[in-house]
Amino acid sequence: MDNLNQQQISRLNSVLVQREQALREEIRREIDAQDDYVQLASEVPDPGDQSFANLSVDLGNAAVTRDMHELRAIELARKRMTSGTYGECASCGYPIPFERLQAMPTAERCAPCQENFERTHNEGHRGATM
Ligand SMILES: [Zn+2]
Repeated sequence: MDNLNQQQISRLNSVLVQREQALREEIRREIDAQDDYVQLASEVPDPGDQSFANLSVDLGNAAVTRDMHELRAIELARKRMTSGTYGECASCGYPIPFERLQAMPTAERCAPCQENFERTHNEGHRGATM
């Protein structure tokens, strides 16, 4: 990661650490809220444990899933910092500009590669910009 100096790395690292803490709290809150609902729903006459389990999985799931994804991305970014590959594009291997990392510290690719990646991995969203 020749393009980043130690100061830039530690700045990005502290952004990641803060974001990680915020996410963990958010997830805890979302799961707590879910528990309350489950508590409430469990007073309704039994529709069968299985369907009930499905219901609780659906609840707040989108928000929790999104947060878990981001948390995972942060973990990976911090691993890359440890291993020394942070700031290197996972596709082309060139350095990712610091400005991009500042805007998105979990970025795995430079902007052109990310666009390309999303285009080839997101068939469903294709069309609007083409
Ligand atoms: Zn690239």
